[in-house]
Amino acid sequence: MTQLMASALRQGEDPSQAIAQIRDRNLALQREREWILEAGEFEEGYLDDAPVCTKCGGLGYVGSQMCSCLRELCRQEQKKELTSLLGSGRETFDSFRLDVYPDAYDPKLGASPRQLMKSNFNICRRYAQSFGPGSGSLLFSGATGLGKTFLSACIARQVADRGYSVVYETAIRLFSDFEAEKFGGAAEENRGKSRKYLDCDLLIIDDLGTEMTTQFTVSMLYHLLNTRMMENRATIISTNLADTEIENRYNPQIASRIIGTFRLVQFAGEDIRRR
Ligand SMILES: [Zn+2]
Repeated sequence: MTQLMASALRQGEDPSQAIAQIRDRNLALQREREWILEAGEFEEGYLDDAPVCTKCGGLGYVGSQMCSCLRELCRQEQKKELTSLLGSGRETFDSFRLDVYPDAYDPKLGASPRQLMKSNFNICRRYAQSFGPGSGSLLFSGATGLGKTFLSACIARQVADRGYSVVYETAIRLFSDFEAEKFGGAAEENRGKSRKYLDCDLLIIDDLGTEMTTQFTVSMLYHLLNTRMMENRATIISTNLADTEIENRYNPQIASRIIGTFRLVQFAGEDIRRR
């Protein structure tokens, strides 16, 4: 177009010859462009301005509502974070081995450790398969080395695969994030650190009771549990602490919320890690 204008202005005469030249040049360029695209094996329409999402035109929002394309992107990011926390991906319900639990009757349990674990395994698998709004919370209680972390990681993976936002964190890290946000100053990295713990569909707190318990962590735990409960969000806590220890370490309100509303999944028997 600029060439056309320039030639019309420069010569002040009938521009038709110049127009014809420019048109030929233009068509030749278009052919060359097609040839380049074809030779480079680009798909058809590669250079056309097609939006990544037809619903929102690539903006991520329709009005004030987040579009499904952006929500999917968030979900994938969250899953990436979950995967980096859980590591290699060993923990799945299919790879869970009941045979490492002794099959002999234990009078203290009223069953064999294997029977007990089979029941726990079924509770967890059903929970993960049917997870949805209003799914209750679970308390994994028992000594170290009985499979609490393994089963909670299995649940985390499956629930995340089904499209829910899942945050899995050790109690130590979780409280240190709350601390960083509260006392860490105004640095960008400290802001909004605790948001995900309050907002996710399923929060899994591993090893509650291994953190340094202070007045601050107690009040944060209460705030966290209370908020999630009011908003009807599910939480899984795994801990070595018994009921009375939960009350002693934290406070009666926290203990009554955990013991009163979480479904207890009891882990008992001998450490199976060597087996
Ligand atoms: Zn969209």
